[in-house]
Amino acid sequence: MQIRLYNSLSRRVDAFEPLEGDEVRMYSCGPTVYSYAHIGNMRSFLFADFLQRSLRTVGGYRVRWIMNITDIDDKTIRDSAIGAPTWLPEMGDQGTDRMDNLLAFTAFYRTAFLKDLQSLGVATSDDIAAMPNATDYILPMQQLIGNIVQNGFAYVQEGSVYFNVGAWHRSDRYGRLLNIDFDNFRAGVRIDADEYERDQVSDFVLWKARKDDEPYWEFEINGQQCPGRPGWHIECSTMERDLLGLPFDIHTGGVDLRFPHHEDEIAQSKAGYGVDPTAFWCHNEFLEVEGAKMSKSAKNFYTLRDLLERGHDPLDIRFLMLSGHYRSVLNFTFAGLKSIGKARQRVQEYIYKLHESPDNGSEARGEVDIQALENAVFGELATDLNAPKALGHLFPFLNEYPAAGLKEHCKQELIGFFRKLNAIFAVWDIAERPVETIEIPAEVRQWAGQRLEARKRKDFAAADALRNKIQAAGFTVKDAADGYQIARLVEQ
Ligand SMILES: [Zn+2]
Repeated sequence: MQIRLYNSLSRRVDAFEPLEGDEVRMYSCGPTVYSYAHIGNMRSFLFADFLQRSLRTVGGYRVRWIMNITDIDDKTIRDSAIGAPTWLPEMGDQGTDRMDNLLAFTAFYRTAFLKDLQSLGVATSDDIAAMPNATDYILPMQQLIGNIVQNGFAYVQEGSVYFNVGAWHRSDRYGRLLNIDFDNFRAGVRIDADEYERDQVSDFVLWKARKDDEPYWEFEINGQQCPGRPGWHIECSTMERDLLGLPFDIHTGGVDLRFPHHEDEIAQSKAGYGVDPTAFWCHNEFLEVEGAKMSKSAKNFYTLRDLLERGHDPLDIRFLMLSGHYRSVLNFTFAGLKSIGKARQRVQEYIYKLHESPDNGSEARGEVDIQALENAVFGELATDLNAPKALGHLFPFLNEYPAAGLKEHCKQELIGFFRKLNAIFAVWDIAERPVETIEIPAEVRQWAGQRLEARKRKDFAAADALRNKIQAAGFTVKDAADGYQIARLVEQ
């Protein structure tokens, strides 16, 4: 099916086609590994996963998906220098070797992030082609910075390198993703922070001069020694080019990354490589918790592990995040999590019943057009990934056509449909209901044997007493042709 997506660059829903053949090259801004990712971050990564799965399943494309890991920036430097946390034995004491500390600190959170992705159903090794660490790309970053300086769009100031926004705007256009008001722009005003607001438009940093005993790399530019480390934005410009080539097909990220991160990425790539990184930018909206912006001070700040510790199923969390439209603010509530869990379970039960229920052809409601359901559901997903509308076709269908009343061939087609749908949502088990393996305690077996003997000698009082003992242990015993059957007592 033809996929249509909202493109932040054109500001409309555009038909999507890969640049070359049937392979989509897609880049997602990954996490900054200085702490456990919170569920707002996770929404962004789940959106990217939902997009790449839709491209494969609905679009029929192959996807080469890259997600970077930011292991060097203001935050990782700041927090890895605070001191050696006791849970990180391989880290040295504060001040011994900042580079070793930084790498050990970020490796710890990288591993934690991968685990979080996996529990949320993101098949990291199968679906993500590479998750590069920024610190492995310092040399190509320096080469790109050198290109930008050489092309006249960056300059060195006190050992740091800054992007010359005024010169670039005169030559090309700064402000492609968001309209920039240049009235307040003052040429030569510089900003060193990785994150800043739109009204702070100024020359941004590509390379930061070494400060105190921060981790640093040597860098010689125009014969001048500039030891230091990269700014955040240059990292993505470099990794996406090295791993995907330019231009590539789709760039994703949260809406908060449109400015300055993505705007700066476009400027750097075009000024240094002479090519726009991509023509397709897809951004997902924020997540709120219980109707409010998530913040530590509002006590509505959750990491995935916070929710798992409270006993929530990660697949319910995934389904909640994916069932809303990615371009709408998602209000994450515990009541919503509970009800989406029930909805997920309802579909799961239906799938199990498709495998189980006997074909009562005479009562069947005739032929059900499974292809029509499939076209409706995937048609919505093909139209800017409209998950709420897609699910809006599914649930009424489940009500109208109970699994038990369907003809066998309809059930088989439906199982095929669910397999395809699950290639995108990845929250169900498409196989038959797993057989519950119950451990029957040895003493229960022993009592059941004794009960059978008692019945054989017609000592019914003893047999009943043993039955009561078995029930008290939580099991039932039934007479069977060849002896007895024990089952777990089911609470009504
Ligand atoms: Zn990025």
